[in-house]
Amino acid sequence: MGSLTTAPAPSDIRIGLGKVLLVEDEALIRETVALSLADEGFEVFVADNGQKALEMLVGSPDRKKEATADISLVILDLMLPGMNGLDLCRLVRHQGMDVPILILSAKGTETDRVVGLEVGADDYLTKPFGMRELIARCRALLRRYQSTAQLEDKSILKFEDIALHTEQCQVFLSEIEVNLSPKEFKILELLISQPKRVWSRDQIIDHVWGYDFMGDNKTVDVHVRWIREKIEADPSQPKYLKTVRGFGYRLG
Ligand code: CA
Repeated sequence: MGSLTTAPAPSDIRIGLGKVLLVEDEALIRETVALSLADEGFEVFVADNGQKALEMLVGSPDRKKEATADISLVILDLMLPGMNGLDLCRLVRHQGMDVPILILSAKGTETDRVVGLEVGADDYLTKPFGMRELIARCRALLRRYQSTAQLEDKSILKFEDIALHTEQCQVFLSEIEVNLSPKEFKILELLISQPKRVWSRDQIIDHVWGYDFMGDNKTVDVHVRWIREKIEADPSQPKYLKTVRGFGYRLG
């Protein structure tokens, strides 16, 4: 099994940078890089070959991978004994893991770089490299992945047991999909965007039907009733979509 190197973070500010798996067969480089990363506040795991790294990332039948379950970055040497870095990279992507991968290699030709990126690596650094550059690239990769993850999260609006997926136009109640019409979906999307805020019928009309809507604002009441029939256990005693007498509606 890969030896484990963890070092206490030098200051509170640096805690929580993430878990890095360093896959490198050359002991000197492995230890140097591991120490530098630990100094920066990363929790570092090391493997000296591809098979061990794969087990640490995706597990194996006889080995649990609790400690390495949420690896946030992989630094991967290309020339390894047995399974090489490119094969490992391909396998990790094949398993559906989208952990950022930074390839380290003595090979510096453009072809190698392109192949590395084609098999799913995110960045490529040629040996010999400076530690400051390696660390800067690790941080940049993590920032990029974290901001993507946050963007994905923003596309799901949640309130208690309701989850509304804005991009897929789907609504789930306790993880069971609820089929809403496009107008019902838009009303719920508006309300869930600011839970507890009261929206008047006219405001709902403006957002959902548009300013040029010529119909009656009782239309809103009809749609709210339909939504309640789909999401409320007891539509006459709504738990989610509440009437605020004299004002309009709110969620929660
Ligand atoms: Ca090597």
